[in-house]
Amino acid sequence: MIIITRGGITDSELDGIRERVEQLGLRTHVSRGEQRVVIGCIGDEAVLREVPWRTLPGVESVMPVLQPYKLAARAFAAGPTAVRIGDSRGTSFARDQFTVIAGPCSVEGPDMLALTARRVAASGARLLRGGAYKPRTSPYSFRGLGEAALGMLVEVRAETGLPVVTEVMDPRQVDLVAEHVDVLQVGARNMQNFSLLSELGRIRRPVLLKRGLSATIEELLMSAEHIMAHGNMDVILCERGIRTFEPATRNTLDLAALPVLRRETHLPVVVDPSHAAGRGDLVAPLAWAAVAAGADGLLVEVHPDPPNALSDGDQSLDLDAFDRLMVGVEAFRKAALAVAGSASGQALVEAVA
Ligand code: PEP
Ligand code: MN
Repeated sequence: MIIITRGGITDSELDGIRERVEQLGLRTHVSRGEQRVVIGCIGDEAVLREVPWRTLPGVESVMPVLQPYKLAARAFAAGPTAVRIGDSRGTSFARDQFTVIAGPCSVEGPDMLALTARRVAASGARLLRGGAYKPRTSPYSFRGLGEAALGMLVEVRAETGLPVVTEVMDPRQVDLVAEHVDVLQVGARNMQNFSLLSELGRIRRPVLLKRGLSATIEELLMSAEHIMAHGNMDVILCERGIRTFEPATRNTLDLAALPVLRRETHLPVVVDPSHAAGRGDLVAPLAWAAVAAGADGLLVEVHPDPPNALSDGDQSLDLDAFDRLMVGVEAFRKAALAVAGSASGQALVEAVA
């Protein structure tokens, strides 16, 4: 259930409402918008039904959240959530920014990581990615450098200032990985690893949650709900393509998921065109289409020498190709903002929202 307050509510009125909810054994989550404050109530809602909420000072209305996901539902927050990374540059994933994460599929060594980091930063990426623990279809493929790779990510962050993102596969690794990196990624194959999701709910670091290979949008949001229900509200969703009958691409990028997610959730959504395409030549057009479809950012695999990459070389862009992709992103962003700012574009955006 959510409680929507009157405009101009005072702090003491707000505290009064929160106390009333918390006395009944529920937690509250306060989301401040420009006009109003939304108080989300987390827990067994049955006990809330008896309370005459509207008689409390500051309450305007009370609404149930009808979707199976509650904390991730759009109504739960007064506006789009900005997930802050907490670095000195103020990096965040938010509707009014466009945040690009780039880097190699796997961390292969300190030099390739540092070179990639410097170049993607110069091209406009705001975060560096690099896998330390790799989920591979074959047990004989390169599985990542593990803890050594975490150390390399930390060193390159110190040198470049870029916050770092890496995948965590096992609930037992969560604390170690969280000590090293700024954003913890849940890979597509682990989207419904519920013990991993609940561990990630305990930590105070943003989670980049990738859509499962065969997961519906609702299942993606339910997985986000698992993390949020355990206390971590900083979830960034990632559309990375889903498995279909089409063999020309590794996966099929579900662009329709972007406007659907915008309607359904307040969480930011980024697109990974690399794993969707599985081929470097398709990454830029898919990235640009994602900009037009309303993505809040991108996750792109970049390697200084893709033909010799230890994982996902086929889909990795080299440093120059990533730079060209970013020039295009800027142009498509300007076009998207111009359309949204025009009268007919505004109508379109409102129709989507
Ligand atoms: C990755 O980001 O390198 C990765 C393994 O992605 P996904 O989980 O989407 O396949
Ligand atoms: Mn990869």
